[in-house]
Amino acid sequence: MQKREVEIVLSPAEAYDELARYRALLEAAGLKPGEADFVHLLRRSIDARGRNVGVRLRADVYQTPPPRELFGPWVQYQNVAHSTKRVVVVGAGPAGLFAALRCIELGLKPIVLERGKDVRTRRRDLAALNKEHVVNPDSNYCFGEGGAGTYSDGKLYTRSKKRGDVQRILRLLVQHGATPEILVDAHPHIGTNKLPYVVQALRQTVLDHGGEVRFETRVDDLILQQNRIRGVVTHAGEEIIGDAVILATGHSARDIYELLLRRQVRIEAKPFALGVRVEHPQVLIDQAQYHRADRGQLPAASYSLVQQTDGPGGQRGVFSFCMCPGGFIVPAATAQGEVVVNGMSPSRRDSRFANSGIVVAIEPEDMNLKRYGVMAGLRFQQEIEQRACQLAGNTQLAPAQLLGDFVQKRTSRTLLETSYQPGLVSVPMDEVLGAVLADRLRQGFRAFGRKIPGYTTNDAQIVGVESRTSAPVRIPRLPETLEHPEVRGLFPCGEGAGFAGGIVSAAMDGERCAEAVLATL
Ligand code: FAD
Repeated sequence: MQKREVEIVLSPAEAYDELARYRALLEAAGLKPGEADFVHLLRRSIDARGRNVGVRLRADVYQTPPPRELFGPWVQYQNVAHSTKRVVVVGAGPAGLFAALRCIELGLKPIVLERGKDVRTRRRDLAALNKEHVVNPDSNYCFGEGGAGTYSDGKLYTRSKKRGDVQRILRLLVQHGATPEILVDAHPHIGTNKLPYVVQALRQTVLDHGGEVRFETRVDDLILQQNRIRGVVTHAGEEIIGDAVILATGHSARDIYELLLRRQVRIEAKPFALGVRVEHPQVLIDQAQYHRADRGQLPAASYSLVQQTDGPGGQRGVFSFCMCPGGFIVPAATAQGEVVVNGMSPSRRDSRFANSGIVVAIEPEDMNLKRYGVMAGLRFQQEIEQRACQLAGNTQLAPAQLLGDFVQKRTSRTLLETSYQPGLVSVPMDEVLGAVLADRLRQGFRAFGRKIPGYTTNDAQIVGVESRTSAPVRIPRLPETLEHPEVRGLFPCGEGAGFAGGIVSAAMDGERCAEAVLATL
């Protein structure tokens, strides 16, 4: 097979035009049209460092037919309907779904139990949340098929590359309907309009190959015998027995943490981060990052910011989290009486708004460990979420303040248009967050204003509270077997256990737990 690897930088107009891109890559390989069999794009990234934004492309140009493994399907599944090894998987988020798929590959039968509804039915509860301010505690932006990542931006980049094979997860997503562009983009994302179809396809693979998936089945108890787990008990009182239990219930399943505490299964307080979501006009971010307001074919611009801040307890990082260019702010509460926000974007990222979490690192020293013990972080989150709800009028209206006013400690008389559908109420954010957190955020925003011209402005507003960044509790596991140190057969998994942060890392952790189950059976 004859192939040449080439790397070029094109203008956005050329890079996003298929024919112009093809010709340029061929030319870079020293070939003329007709002299290549196939051009396989390996990487696409935007270089916005200079005044003229360029798109960097890396590709293999083949002069002979390319190898079949470029095109998938990459994984073949066997039928496990009659397998004698049953694995109970609690939660159908990325961790649970990828654990189930890996179980099937390895010949184990997964039984997936999900408290929420299938993706389509779940949509109605999201509509009720946005329009009528009704929070269904089992079906919301965090709970339901696909987990917290379904109605999200679907960003697929991860910093935990060392923990697993990122490309394998991306390929599996493509095999289940995601755009192949995620295999080449430096910052891949799927989009909230496409994710539900991918999630349904993942579920269908589980069902087609002899696994089980049960919706509206909340796990309320564990069947523990001495130091081993035998299965779980559902909210309807049904006992579901398995050779192992993969617990992948996400960072918002507070009742699971309470259950573990009650059943004396060890859990630990863990650092997390909390703050607000900031919303700018997308055009302001495009202007700052691309040096022009009309971005043309370029994707909506994003940013990633971090700043060390001073305060009681020492230095703490303030950083941007889950930035959603061209996106929407969504109500991510999981219980009535609390207000929580997060962000999502459609695949085209074409809303007029850019939003991002701006959060402060919370260390165990910042929590009331004396009073609340291992639940201190969770109580810290809960108190601020409840205060946000009370101060904004006890609905899903969210407290908000103009960014410039917040930095100058002024009350906002008016607010701006927003993508947050339930609506906003002007509230001084210091009252929601408390003086210490608010002061650290102010330090962060001032520094960000120096990094991105025009960032700290009254053309932007902050919305509270961004509190579900990661789990405030860790469910420990042994590094060798991935089992809970005190309960054999129990595999704490994904973000809720503290071993992942994001869709891809949760999926990788799900796969790892399935492999660990096989190793112990
Ligand atoms: P989860 O996805 O939280 O899944 C846990 C599942 O367990 C849920 O479906 C829940 O209903 C179920 N469950 C909970 N308790 C029980 C019980 N007792 N019985 C049965 N089932 C139960 N990450 C990214 O990488 N990119 C993004 O763009 C992105 N955007 C996001 C946008 C929003 C609005 C939100 C809320 C999150 C976003 N995230 C994003 C974070 C990402 O969704 C999570 O990191 C990821 O989903 C964690 O996967 P998980 O499987 O560990 O847990």
